Amino acid sequence: MGGSTEASALARALAGDARFAATLSLAGRTSAPATPPVALRLGGFGGVAGLVDHLRATGIAALVDATHPFAARMRAHAAEAAEQARVPRLAILRPPWRAELGDRWTHLADSTALAGALAGPPRRVFLAIGQQEAARAALPPGHFYLIRSIEPPDPALLPPGARSLLGRGPFALADEIDLLRSHRIDTLVAKNSGGAATAAKLEAARLLGIEVLLIARPPAPPPPLVADAEAALAWLARLHAERSARGV
Ligand code: NAP
Repeated sequence: MGGSTEASALARALAGDARFAATLSLAGRTSAPATPPVALRLGGFGGVAGLVDHLRATGIAALVDATHPFAARMRAHAAEAAEQARVPRLAILRPPWRAELGDRWTHLADSTALAGALAGPPRRVFLAIGQQEAARAALPPGHFYLIRSIEPPDPALLPPGARSLLGRGPFALADEIDLLRSHRIDTLVAKNSGGAATAAKLEAARLLGIEVLLIARPPAPPPPLVADAEAALAWLARLHAERSARGV
């Protein structure tokens, strides 16, 4: 189950490995996902029951939940469905970002806390939380908003005067600094996704002394958990060896 850097890395590792026949599952949110080197299936399953049916119908022997740390619903469904279908499941959860010297971070429990955090005088805000979250956040008017997303946001859901910027990571530090400077941004809003691909904006904010409103992660999925694709491959290799020893 993908939609993350780790899922793409695992798909690459499994593609050339004769022990496995892998399928990458994507929600289908982005209109032009990169073609993976393994089989691809697109779209939701129809909740836990749909995923249980899918696991049974396809005879899937192992499920790796490599969805994004903020894809809480899919992660919960994957854990529940794997248990019901008795399919071994592992979740990849990359470590969150941690504040460093010079960071000016305010931690928010979720995106609904943004409206309160942005109460007060006008600010110039860079939102790097994706269009879905930006639409959910009920952003208060009166600020300048620059909203970066992979897919264009629905203009009806954005506050007046918001500017849309399309972009897909990874982002380079020099470009992030240019962006923050050229739009005279004084507040960066980000989700604590962790990982390298989108970390440059936080480094740019630190270097420019810009305040960051950082949205905390939803609760982690149940164990077992690993931090990266390499550890997930090791888990799959162990599972494969056990099954081979049992003659399955
Ligand atoms: P979500 O709220 O946890 O999931 C909503 C529904 O989308 C799920 O219940 C499931 O539908 C479907 N779905 C999600 N991931 C799927 C997958 N890999 N394969 C098939 N169906 C999937 O997820 P989200 O936050 O909208 O994220 C959607 C996708 O974008 C995820 O795959 C995630 O890895 C990726 N992504 C998310 C973020 C983020 O910040 N949330 C950032 C980058 C990438 P059914 O209930 O019908 O099965």
